[in-house]
Amino acid sequence: MDLVIRNASLPDGRRGVDIAIDQGRIAAVAPGLPAKGAREIDAEGDLVTPPFVDAHFHMDATLSYGLPRVNQSGTLLEGIALWGELKPQLTQDALVARALQYCDWAVARGLLAIRSHVDVCDDRLLAVEALLDVKRRVAPYLDLQLVAFPQDGVLRSPSALANLKRAVAMGVDVVGGIPHFERTMADGAESVRILCEFAADQGLRVDMHCDESDDPLSRHIETLAFHTQRLGLQGRVAGSHLTSMHSMDNYYVSKLLPLIKEAGVAAIANPLINITLQGRHDSYPKRRGMTRVPEMLAQGIDVAFGHDCVMDPWYSLGSGDMLEVAHMGLHVAQMTGQDAMRDCFRAVTETPARILGLEGYGLHPGCHADLVLLDAGDAVEAIRLRAARRLVLRRGQVVAESPRAVARLALPGRPPQADFRLPMPAGLARKNA
Ligand SMILES: [Zn+2]
Repeated sequence: MDLVIRNASLPDGRRGVDIAIDQGRIAAVAPGLPAKGAREIDAEGDLVTPPFVDAHFHMDATLSYGLPRVNQSGTLLEGIALWGELKPQLTQDALVARALQYCDWAVARGLLAIRSHVDVCDDRLLAVEALLDVKRRVAPYLDLQLVAFPQDGVLRSPSALANLKRAVAMGVDVVGGIPHFERTMADGAESVRILCEFAADQGLRVDMHCDESDDPLSRHIETLAFHTQRLGLQGRVAGSHLTSMHSMDNYYVSKLLPLIKEAGVAAIANPLINITLQGRHDSYPKRRGMTRVPEMLAQGIDVAFGHDCVMDPWYSLGSGDMLEVAHMGLHVAQMTGQDAMRDCFRAVTETPARILGLEGYGLHPGCHADLVLLDAGDAVEAIRLRAARRLVLRRGQVVAESPRAVARLALPGRPPQADFRLPMPAGLARKNA
């Protein structure tokens, strides 16, 4: 064996497990493995998980905060206007440099797979070229999946559909859309039909920005579910944001959720962005805007949490930390029950992996040895602490390493504590699990 990780806790609650790794893949997962590793790592009871996966991101805009100016109001509309000002000034080199820098941040945080939308409404398709280049360059350490995203509307913007098809021909993986931004509800529905038929024809997955609005009558998710089923795209389609569902009539939602489930459409909520951008026209009470996560999970619908933005025209914060995303999602959706908190961890790991269709993801023998050792005893503690990533492994190789979060306390009248830790002692964590 190339490597054996000893005494790990796993996201499913198993403890004291050894993980043997050979030739970049997981060879065995069991307590007390006899096999010796060329290298051995003691997890000391800490959590080992497959890597974090971000199902919704915009890598063409990331780390552009302040270019050409900052978003003064912090609103979605000023963000879109700002992006419009920035787009003509973008250069391919700068775009590649920022994206590569973000991928370094991601790896340091144990985030090894990202689905990024890329705006195809610039006729030069400069961002598409840049991110395809980035995808090739980061492939040894990060899976980057690209979505052809017609930000200005595939019908509303004259060249968007042709550009989207060019982007797919160039190698972009997934068909995007933005039906709620088209001129009319009818155009929105028509855009969903056109894009789903194109995806079915090309054998591609679909991920649309869908109903990112507080308008309860924005119901393009219903059309997306309809065409998914009609075209046999079950399991290959995701609706991103779905914030209008927050404001929809409850009776209508009781009909809608079974249709989404039946069509095998997944949902991607973006808690950090939804809670900051939605509800902006409200006085008080203010709507939260995030879609109905626990209700969809109860229906058996796959729900992932995405980061969406990091330091760009729409959002001036973020650091590629999917535990921060899960932490916000947990709070906004009031998912504070024990099972619900573990669902939030799944929403940034195995669920988005399924949505992206990642091959070899997981903790079974035969899976890629892509693993993260966290400074936490279990998934809930990982979210609570946004725990340090002690080790990040890609194909069995350590690609990032961080120290445990320890503090030096010097309290008056008390002996100094040099290795004060916020994570609970292993025994206590075990009792609570
Ligand atoms: Zn987005």
